[in-house]
Amino acid sequence: MRIERVDVFRVDLPYAGGSYVLSGGRTYESFDATFVRLTTDTGVEGWGESTPFGSNYVAAHPRGVRAGLEELAPHLLGIDPRGVDRVNDQMDNILMGHPGAKTAIDVACWDVFGKAVEMPVCELLGGSTGERLPVISSIHLGDPDDMRARVAEHRARGYRGHSIKVGTLDADGGPSLDAERVAASMADAQPGEYFLVDANGAMTPEHALRFLRLLPPGLDIVFEAPCATWRETASLRGQTGVPIVLDELADSSPAVIAAIADDLCDGIGLKVSKNGGLTQCRRQRDIAIAGGLTMSVQDTVGSEVSFAAVVHLGQTVPQRHLRCVLDVRAMVAARTAAIDVEIVDGGVMAPDAPGLGIDVDLDVMGEPVASWS
Ligand SMILES: [Mg+2]
Repeated sequence: MRIERVDVFRVDLPYAGGSYVLSGGRTYESFDATFVRLTTDTGVEGWGESTPFGSNYVAAHPRGVRAGLEELAPHLLGIDPRGVDRVNDQMDNILMGHPGAKTAIDVACWDVFGKAVEMPVCELLGGSTGERLPVISSIHLGDPDDMRARVAEHRARGYRGHSIKVGTLDADGGPSLDAERVAASMADAQPGEYFLVDANGAMTPEHALRFLRLLPPGLDIVFEAPCATWRETASLRGQTGVPIVLDELADSSPAVIAAIADDLCDGIGLKVSKNGGLTQCRRQRDIAIAGGLTMSVQDTVGSEVSFAAVVHLGQTVPQRHLRCVLDVRAMVAARTAAIDVEIVDGGVMAPDAPGLGIDVDLDVMGEPVASWS
């Protein structure tokens, strides 16, 4: 089997909640998504998506994804997409870094691989655990009562985890407003719910320590991405007993290894496009399991194609290591594919159709913005 054609598509995904507010004054109304369709000589097609969270969340940015694909695509023609590690070797030979661009290709290869052997991707990634995966919400910064209402709204829709955003400068309310946000968001907490407090790297250790001391005692939280740098996170780690989760800083196998070696964290956010695709995430999953870390399997943002990769990867993480998966679909207003995944009893399961188990809507994709054959 050989890759015969690579098509790239661009779709705007409006944020479903109007305006998404992140720490540091970052706001987002819409996300610029890139999709790849691989066509093989046997006629089997595979799809992958890479949708950065704007251009100021991690180093990846939307136009960079497509520029990276321009570098990569001509060198993929003729390669067997089922040899996913070899495809990744080839991509690394052609282009240093740029996991966001490589993700769309890598995920499309896994989709082809699954369809070629008529197995769902989760079975090829190691096998389904057979467990439902708890779904986590993404509660952007806002008024504490409004955040509490949005948590309740997600709870009613079956969400078992909640990612509460914090990280506000003193001039805008500072640690005390952030502490109020967390207390309000957790005011109606139910048994079995998981609360992740996410600063997206906005706090210095001083700010983070003040914030933690202002929280009501006994709150069952993990603290995600409190600080932007390794040094700051290590300093905070030594001064608090609150579990620390790395997200933006845990973006590669070497970073996950270093985090374990330095005992910097208790868990990681394993985001498919941030971390370089399913082949890279499979490796990081195994390193994290061996190192005793928990995982939230997510993507930066995205639509059904991205969510399919998330849910197949999440389906392979043993229950004691898996905290939640992010249903990126709920964050955007556009539908790019049909996928048979419903929230039932607080969780989702990967579809059992071959490959990613998606049926892409070609009308939404429109004409390719670039093609190679
Ligand atoms: Mg995060």
